[in-house]
Amino acid sequence: MTEHPTHWINVAVQTPAHSAVGALLTYRCPFWVHPGQLVRLPLGSREVLGVVWAILDEAPAHMPAAALRDVLGVLEGLSPLNAHWLQLVQFAAQYYQRSLGEVALSALPPQLRDLNNEQLARRLKKQNTERVVQTRPGPALSPEQITVLEQMKTGTGPFLLFGSTGSGKTEVYLQAVERMLAADPQAQALLMVPEINLTPQLEERVQARFGAEAVVSMHSGMTPAQRLKAWLAAHAGHARIVLGTRMAIFASMPQLQLIVVDEEHDPSYKQQEGARYSARDLAVYRGRLQNAPVLLASATPSLESWHLSRPPDADGQNGGRYQRLLMPSRIGTGLLPKVRRVDMNKQPRRALLSTQLVAALQERVERGEQCMLLLNRRGYAPVLHCADCGWKSECPHCSAFRVFHKIDRSLRCHHCGLTERVPRACPECGNADIAPIGRGTEQLEEHLGELLAHVLRPDGTPVRIARIDADSTRLKGALESQLAQVHSGEVDVLVGTQMIAKGHDFRRITLVAAVNPDAALFSSDFRAPERLFALLMQAAGRAGRDAAQSARSEMWVQSFHPTHPLFAALKQHDYPAFAATELAERTAAELPPISHQALLRADARTQDAAQALLNAVRASLEAQLSADAATQYLVSQVSIYPAVPMSMQRVANVERAQMLLESPSRMALQKMLWHLHSVLHQVRNQPEHKGVIRWLVDVDPQAI
Ligand code: ADP
Ligand code: ZN
Ligand code: ZN
Repeated sequence: MTEHPTHWINVAVQTPAHSAVGALLTYRCPFWVHPGQLVRLPLGSREVLGVVWAILDEAPAHMPAAALRDVLGVLEGLSPLNAHWLQLVQFAAQYYQRSLGEVALSALPPQLRDLNNEQLARRLKKQNTERVVQTRPGPALSPEQITVLEQMKTGTGPFLLFGSTGSGKTEVYLQAVERMLAADPQAQALLMVPEINLTPQLEERVQARFGAEAVVSMHSGMTPAQRLKAWLAAHAGHARIVLGTRMAIFASMPQLQLIVVDEEHDPSYKQQEGARYSARDLAVYRGRLQNAPVLLASATPSLESWHLSRPPDADGQNGGRYQRLLMPSRIGTGLLPKVRRVDMNKQPRRALLSTQLVAALQERVERGEQCMLLLNRRGYAPVLHCADCGWKSECPHCSAFRVFHKIDRSLRCHHCGLTERVPRACPECGNADIAPIGRGTEQLEEHLGELLAHVLRPDGTPVRIARIDADSTRLKGALESQLAQVHSGEVDVLVGTQMIAKGHDFRRITLVAAVNPDAALFSSDFRAPERLFALLMQAAGRAGRDAAQSARSEMWVQSFHPTHPLFAALKQHDYPAFAATELAERTAAELPPISHQALLRADARTQDAAQALLNAVRASLEAQLSADAATQYLVSQVSIYPAVPMSMQRVANVERAQMLLESPSRMALQKMLWHLHSVLHQVRNQPEHKGVIRWLVDVDPQAI
């Protein structure tokens, strides 16, 4: 063979999701590159983007030289992704059981794939390298804020800031950023928020403090061009602050020195497709990796973080590894709203709104105040029903009912999207009298319109009722404009699903009501009470944010179980009491955060086929591990339960089954998953499992 200036590199490219974890492709490279550089490569007949992962010392022995293809070129002008970024991606891929290439490439802005060097050069040139920070002073800090910031200075974290809504947590983030920049003007901070519709307000606040140029946003609502621009600014170190949703955890930030996770309990930090990562958990990992303090914050922390921040016992043992910081008081004279529980057993049968609540709404509207009603079901009614023959509006493709939407007289499946006009008569027996069962937001809106029809605002004009849910906000920009209407006072009574409960700073709301929250008390999902408590506390936090009004602001809960301990804790605004009860139950049942879980899910045309794959995997996995003295312990440390149908068993004619793995040891569970991966590939390829459409692994699942 002739001498060749060429060397060989391992590259991460977008590979099918389930190719072996960590798999990299090897290429020949006729020019010099560094790990972390982005390159263009031939893959099959396509040209793809890849991330250089490693430079090899010699030609790979197991591949004939002729089988190796040449790298086509590098993306010029971009500095390499640093070693921390590569390690973060590698960890995420391994922990969440996905291919390295998938995680790496989906962490990059999609537009990078499509630009040639000339176009990229133009984008880079447009970059404002002179991004100036103009820090404006914040308010004088409260004693609690001062203490917390002091604790952050002396401790190493990770920190869990447990602070009431309105206690000034956001101000703590801003101060922490300010302090960071004062110490190092080149430093970068990552501020994560749960949902995109919460970003605008915080964005304004951050920009007002540090100047618009210092901040970039990262969320899925941005155009590809905006995303690229923000990414480049962060990658080049020009942006001081990245404000983003879960995807921002993978932002390339070479000078990262602080990570804040706002509303850290929020389920939207867990990605629900592809690599099912938890951005909150990755934040803790990334902070340790880059030696950046991590601040998780919430008024209702996740039980995971609460447990991890538990104080040591009397003899100094068993404390968690997070440091808990406390801000119990609201800023100013702002009191937390009074919680009122209404016993629905004492109301007329089938009443949707109690007479007391209707009277309270009227009173508020007449005083010119705003109210917010929560009902976690969109549409008019969840089911249509024929009393004669028993027909119900089931979806033919899913194990779910189609929801009645009165506005366009449709029956819609919220799982597969099937939409049909409401039949004039029962499709089974022809009875013309088919009736809705149960209530959704549309019906609540209509019902309120009737109940409050005679109510006048202080200026003598009629009450204005509006609804915000996934239906009303389907069009781009609709949510923003509807929220703006509420803010500007054009709405008196707002009806909606949980999407209105979070984060929005509605100053004039003095009454928030949960219309029918009982289902979560008895749900089969063990996290349902935790979610409900957080939602209600959040919702309560919406009321009385204006100190002048906080004294008379109220949170109403209508329930058939008004004395339930969850509502009792809510009444006292006592998250620690709620958490203690809940953790005791989880401990007794050996559920997270005491144990760790993963789900293996299979989809197939039949439930039998889906379950057969899972049970076969379980059998071979246990047989294989038991046969080897080195792995026997895993079988006793990790419980693998038999396959069961998922609670939503069928969606769009696909049957879904799942198998739960559970262990007190996260490490043992990870090892088990590693073995599971190879067994799964073997079993999947057996002819008897041809009927399986797809499978996936969900580590630390949010629902089982
Ligand atoms: P949280 O994030 O805990 O809900 P915020 O940081 O949004 O709380 O604070 C609630 C309100 O109090 C905001 O309007 C904020 O501007 C104000 N605020 C926060 N800290 C102070 C302070 N030290 N002095 C005066 N006002 C403050
Ligand atoms: Zn019928
Ligand atoms: Zn359906």
